[in-house]
Amino acid sequence: MVVERDDISEILKDYDKSEITIGTIGSHSALQILSGAKKEGFKTLNMVTKERKEVYNAYPLARPDYSLEVKSYKEILDKDFQLKLTEKNVVIIPHGSFVEYVGAENILNDFHVPIFGNRESLVWEADRSKQREWLEGKAGLKMPREFKIDEINNLSIVKLHGAKGGKGFARARNPKEVSESLEYMKEKGLISEEDLQGDLTVQEYIDGARYYLHYFLSKFSDDFGVPVYHRGRRLGNLLLSSIDRRDETNIDDIHRTGLNPEELKEVGIVPTYTVAGNIPLVARESLLPKIYKMGEKTVEASDDLFPPGINGPFCLETFCRPNLDFVVFEISGRIVAGTNLYISGSPYLDMVEEGLSTGRLIAREIKKGIEKDKLDEIIY
Ligand code: AMP
Repeated sequence: MVVERDDISEILKDYDKSEITIGTIGSHSALQILSGAKKEGFKTLNMVTKERKEVYNAYPLARPDYSLEVKSYKEILDKDFQLKLTEKNVVIIPHGSFVEYVGAENILNDFHVPIFGNRESLVWEADRSKQREWLEGKAGLKMPREFKIDEINNLSIVKLHGAKGGKGFARARNPKEVSESLEYMKEKGLISEEDLQGDLTVQEYIDGARYYLHYFLSKFSDDFGVPVYHRGRRLGNLLLSSIDRRDETNIDDIHRTGLNPEELKEVGIVPTYTVAGNIPLVARESLLPKIYKMGEKTVEASDDLFPPGINGPFCLETFCRPNLDFVVFEISGRIVAGTNLYISGSPYLDMVEEGLSTGRLIAREIKKGIEKDKLDEIIY
């Protein structure tokens, strides 16, 4: 059964607001989340496997006050485990690994611990058809066309079901190239037989420059960002906080082989799009109005689809086409790892406050929620 907003409000009522602990899973953007929380004076908690624990103790300014060791991240769903969290007045900050390891549906149905943001946004990001309904259907943003494998007759990108971080993405110009690429990746151990079982999504290959646009919707701050009003209500102030571009192996360095596509094929190298890191970026300044408009439409659409909609950080993953129009290929309804570039500020955040990070913005929003006694507006 779905964990309702009211259930979480009830749990929050019992929380000791002077002892809130900010918690997350040790992966993805945890260091940033933990250091941001510490800067705002919160106690912090990390849920982490034995192998990864060391890394999270390495940086004093991000070192968690509490570390809960898990064998598998699904353990987090156990009743006893959840109790350990609520006893410590934990507010969870969800990130990409949290959604992937715990599962969006499990979070919605079985996780009775307060989460910063709107947990429904995690369900909407986890399903490609829901993403399309949100971004193209409601927000009216442009997305890549989709079709079936046997309809491929031009450069396309094939995405495995539920694949994250570009894992197992294949570029193909015809159905034969799809099977060749997938076979190659299986041979190289990049994907498994199981990965191939689910549905494949085929999208037109979008040419252009990649922009991963990081936004933050604050419910309580009106001294930064642009106000977003929808159906007579103020949804919050929206800020473009930073931008990144991903470094993807092997595609981003494939030119270093000095080989053309045919020669690459001969030596058995197939382009892959696995995300391995992030690179900073700023947008041409005249693009900012368009970028803000896309963010605003996304926020408004979220209010229509899962009221009161999204809050906190989210990211639109886009291509800026040669005509400077944007095409959005994905949304992340929570903090993205690209913000890790900006733990000590970003070109945009520095104009709000020097050295500000998304992790710290989250903690500050929670702090304001406590002061205003309105935590249930930003936590579900
Ligand atoms: P994703 O896992 O959806 O973030 O995608 C991983 C990478 O695949 C992106 O960073 C792009 O390089 C590439 N990609 C995804 N969709 C498309 C598309 N429709 N056209 C071209 N490249 C794409």
